[in-house]
Amino acid sequence: VKFEVTILGCGSATPTITRKPTAQVVNVREHYFLFDCGEGTQVELRRNNIKFQRINQKFIRHLHGDHFSGLLGVISSIHLLGRTTPLQVFGPPGLEDIVLLQLKLSHSYLSYALEFVALEFDGSQIIYENEQLSISRLPLKHSVPCNGFLLREKPKQKNILKEKLTAYQIPIAAISSIKDGGDFTTEDGRTIPNKELTKERAKSYSYAFCSDTAYTEHLIPLLKDVDVLYHESTFLEAMRDRAKATKHSTAKDAAEIASKAGVKQLVLGHYSARYKTTEEFLEEALPIFENTILGHEGKVIRLY
Ligand SMILES: [Zn+2]
Repeated sequence: VKFEVTILGCGSATPTITRKPTAQVVNVREHYFLFDCGEGTQVELRRNNIKFQRINQKFIRHLHGDHFSGLLGVISSIHLLGRTTPLQVFGPPGLEDIVLLQLKLSHSYLSYALEFVALEFDGSQIIYENEQLSISRLPLKHSVPCNGFLLREKPKQKNILKEKLTAYQIPIAAISSIKDGGDFTTEDGRTIPNKELTKERAKSYSYAFCSDTAYTEHLIPLLKDVDVLYHESTFLEAMRDRAKATKHSTAKDAAEIASKAGVKQLVLGHYSARYKTTEEFLEEALPIFENTILGHEGKVIRLY
């Protein structure tokens, strides 16, 4: 059982030999989600031993090529691999038109259903939910409409203490409500409080993915107490003017947001191709937010 993020690419705009355009896979207890799908994403999935068919939901943040150019490749490959399970693609309005036109003009037919969910860009809202977690979109501030995403686990079920099962002769029918936090009433009418029957509820974790964006304090309340925040840092402070003009952040900006929101850990990424190394990003962020790490291709961040 795990919750982990694999960075497939964390370069911005143009790729370099070592840095790939944006894509990440998040695995929460064997549910796989792909966030962004830059060019070459399928190669990076292979490199990281992540099976294409495991991913049932893909999320695209905005229609700049470095965030979605790999989508058609993955869509075609999973067809060739014989997929029959539907694939959901969440993204900006227009993404569906782009993909369907390419498929149509290349006379491609898919072995599975492709379901598009067009996302709005105003405020934050839950866009996907299953029994274990929810995914919300976050309003970012970029040169084109752009969403960030926040993945939050729902409260986990509690584990019942084995000795209590026999001591109070708890029937199977009552177990689910006790796991959800309910008390138990015995046959002779005694109420046994939940805390006497169960272990502490395991912590629920959260992960936020904010790129591309300029520094925006709108994010602060939305990111409150998030466990891991991936925040873009396209530039260093020396290029602050360029960051401002292109609506991107510096490493310092990312650290300010992390600090003000009180997240537990910050991951930097989306580095401009002009930087050959990334140590300076860390040097600029650390004085403001201590628990900062550098994202890089192939990096796996384990929340548990
Ligand atoms: Zn970008």
